[in-house]
Amino acid sequence: MLPFVVTAQDTASRARLGTLSTLHGTVQTPTFMPVGTRATVTGLDPAEVGHMGAQVLLANTYHLLLRPGPELFRRVGGIGAFMGWPGPVLTDSGGYQIFSLPEQRTITEDGARFRSYVDQRMHLLSPERSIEVQQAIGSDIMMVLDECVDSTADEARVRAAMERTHRWALRSLAARSEPDRALFAIVQGGVNPLLRRESAEFLTQHAFDGFAIGGLAVGDTRAERERITALSAQLLPADRPRYLMGVGTPPDLLQAMLAGVDMFDCVLPTHLAWQGTAFTSTGRVKITRAECAESDAVLDAACSCTTCRRFSRAYLHHLFQCREPLGPRLLSLHNLHHYLQLMLEARTAIGAGTYAAYARAKLDAIDRHEHSGHRLGPSAESAPS
Ligand SMILES: [Zn+2]
Repeated sequence: MLPFVVTAQDTASRARLGTLSTLHGTVQTPTFMPVGTRATVTGLDPAEVGHMGAQVLLANTYHLLLRPGPELFRRVGGIGAFMGWPGPVLTDSGGYQIFSLPEQRTITEDGARFRSYVDQRMHLLSPERSIEVQQAIGSDIMMVLDECVDSTADEARVRAAMERTHRWALRSLAARSEPDRALFAIVQGGVNPLLRRESAEFLTQHAFDGFAIGGLAVGDTRAERERITALSAQLLPADRPRYLMGVGTPPDLLQAMLAGVDMFDCVLPTHLAWQGTAFTSTGRVKITRAECAESDAVLDAACSCTTCRRFSRAYLHHLFQCREPLGPRLLSLHNLHHYLQLMLEARTAIGAGTYAAYARAKLDAIDRHEHSGHRLGPSAESAPS
């Protein structure tokens, strides 16, 4: 069992501080995991990512299975050695990526059959194969293969996917041959509270090291997401880490921490950086907009990241206009710093017993800015990686 210790509890919310011990070091929770889909946080040196305060990276089993393949990871001693990242890595199971390819796969009780986008060969991603590949990759925290459906699909469809996810979770647990690697189950059930309850009750009877809340940010509204996250978190055992998968605007994180969620990942800070969008203390800034062309201001006067200490909006705008790779790199550094700083502030507030007040003040400020400033549609929020 993965050692997880709750070290402090907020006084006026369910937010908590914890330490999670893995094969590659200890993680302070709540934590945000930058997404390194193909064993890279696009454009950044892992040392930079670690220096900013990232403690765990997320990598995608589906992409790494296809290229460079599990045999290479076995040979070089795992993903950490391969990519120059000494810390822990969480691997997803590939379920979400398979779900995102509706035209190119068939899902049966065995698993998902799909054609490789690299060499056109057919693959079967079964629960057992996913665990085998995650062990080969050298994952510290592995995820069970789950069947994802649109969270707003009809009840029969959501139930069928949830029940299959439960059967696959038990197959994944039985397939794990390296017990030092943690294995998390995934609570499914769409936006239906009764199904979420049933899913949590089933999965928590088994010896998983942690529990994820899956299947959100795929068609649901923010209100539905918050309600289901809070309900699911409440149904999960206090002595195991809770991980909200793939969900993550800053307000989503703040709300979920109020509900007692410990771990997060999301492509938004890095994906949006590559599209020229920065998260700042006064809302989102689209650096490619004309008003940035002549601006001597920094991206975010309240930010202490290397980008904000050294470069003007005009320079960043210029880099994007010229399609220079330094532009997205500098925005990625800023956006990740913004997220990691938010988590650091949250941990400090939880430790002081003042998280509920901190989160409410922060949520009010963000909502005020987001409603007056630039907003992004749901397509950007649910982009698969
Ligand atoms: Zn910054």
